Amino acid sequence: MRRTFSGNAAAPGMALGRVRLEQPARFSVDHTPLPDNEIEPEVARLERAFAAAREDMAELRRKLHGALAREVGEFIDAHAQLLEDPELIEGLRGMIRKGRFRAAAALKAQRDRLVSVFDSMDDPYLRSRGEDVDHVIARVQSALARQASSEEKKLATRVGEILVTDSVAPGELAHMASHGILAVVAGSGSPYSHSAILARSLHLPMLVNADGVLEDLRDGDLALVDGARGEVIVHPTAQDLAGYRHWQRESTREGQRLAQLAGVPTRTRDGVQLRIFANAERPEDVERARSLGVAGIGLYRTEFLFLARPGLPGEDEQFTVYRDLVFAAGGLPVTIRTLDLGADKADAAGLVMAAEPNPALGVRGVRLSLRQIDVFVTQLRAILRASCYGPIRILVPMVTDAVELVEVRHLIMECARDLRTAGHEIPDQFELGAMVEVPAAAINVRALLEVSDFIAIGSNDLTQYLLAADRNNDQVGKLYQPSNPAVIRTLAYVIAQARRAGKAACLCGEIAGDPNFAAMLVAIGLEDFSMLPDRILGQRDALSRCSRKALRSLGPRLLRARDSAEVERLLRNVTGD
Ligand code: PEP
Ligand code: MG
Repeated sequence: MRRTFSGNAAAPGMALGRVRLEQPARFSVDHTPLPDNEIEPEVARLERAFAAAREDMAELRRKLHGALAREVGEFIDAHAQLLEDPELIEGLRGMIRKGRFRAAAALKAQRDRLVSVFDSMDDPYLRSRGEDVDHVIARVQSALARQASSEEKKLATRVGEILVTDSVAPGELAHMASHGILAVVAGSGSPYSHSAILARSLHLPMLVNADGVLEDLRDGDLALVDGARGEVIVHPTAQDLAGYRHWQRESTREGQRLAQLAGVPTRTRDGVQLRIFANAERPEDVERARSLGVAGIGLYRTEFLFLARPGLPGEDEQFTVYRDLVFAAGGLPVTIRTLDLGADKADAAGLVMAAEPNPALGVRGVRLSLRQIDVFVTQLRAILRASCYGPIRILVPMVTDAVELVEVRHLIMECARDLRTAGHEIPDQFELGAMVEVPAAAINVRALLEVSDFIAIGSNDLTQYLLAADRNNDQVGKLYQPSNPAVIRTLAYVIAQARRAGKAACLCGEIAGDPNFAAMLVAIGLEDFSMLPDRILGQRDALSRCSRKALRSLGPRLLRARDSAEVERLLRNVTGD
């Protein structure tokens, strides 16, 4: 029967596929005892589910090639071994036969028991093996829960899978996208989280904070995800599918219209030239950005390089990535941001301080880099070596005080000296900039501008810190409003101060690429925008409809606005939208 679930739109696009549920701990299982006549059929169901899970693993193994096979193969083998574990299987049979558990309830009880055994271990490696148990049991649960009708199954096998999960870490997301996941539906989270940003970069439709999906969806259900509306329809009707086909046609048409803006300069309606830079998460983003016409790479977030692998990437490995980035940019400036781990970014390398009570206000960004000097120096050396191949700008995240940037500058100079002594040709000049994303850095931006060559405004974090509303927590999603007058005034002040100091100020938070904020940003004097490549043409289009003169004349009234509603009303009066 058709059902719809709503969440918050986190990455646009639609996708049709079959549900793949993750997070078995949240499964609602039937705990009523089995009647006598269902015991043996239930054991048989369990065995079929194990067989199907083994077949899934074997299939996965067959699909892996090259480096990925080496990296992931070990995990698959460990999981496959667990699926053969006679103690596990015998234990489950016993629970069904003697305890009258249903198979799903037995699996959940075993999972909870085993995970708590692993959790109580002192050795962090062994402790992390608990996750393997979790994954393996999730696979069997999934196989068990596949209840789609044969008609749906036929359609679903052709259209890939939709991940339905409680939450997803950025590192996992990249991996999933390369394994055929078509869309993500998360029970928690927010559109400003790093996972959502990455989903947009990967063109994965995503909705977050979707109530009830984990409890009510079943593996194999056919689902239609609408990332722009923040909706998922389970068991869609013929009419829904027609809507989907209509969307496919429309998005092709809109794509063709916007494609004409590729390579065209970005100008407002009254002819003021603006600059669009790209936020690149992956090398392909750089190629795509160049083909659309950009002034450079405004933000390359290096943490994804650290999250995509176990352990830390060494100097040579990082150097190769940064150098290739510079090559791909073909002479355009590339802004490489130093590591910004902490807060919501899961930490594969174990760098982040363990169990900070308040990670968003803790040791993240440059705070972490200045404590982990070895890791930081490795990164700075790799960036400096890559700077021989084209213009690189170094950007430092989470700066609170100008002193931090001065410290980084000294470190860079030391690294450059050492590299030159070792025979590397390092350019004499480098540009160093600070992210303005901590309120103190914004309020005291004049001091920061004295020691920076440029600044980049991180509106994602600046908004969360100004409004004391966690960007990852949808419970405070209503408060998280980039159009709040406090945010607008702060942004306008920072932009004006940078102009006074004669330094470039590029805004690289999500609103830079959001057409809903184009007029607001023009009104407060922004000229440099950095956004994901996918957003470039739409934003160029939106900016071309703005009259800078009319919007600038709003300035004082906009800055005096009492709330977001008044801001939006003032802007609407000018844009006529
Ligand atoms: C920001 O905070 O606006 C930003 C661009 O950085 P990130 O989203 O990676 O924190
Ligand atoms: Mg930030």
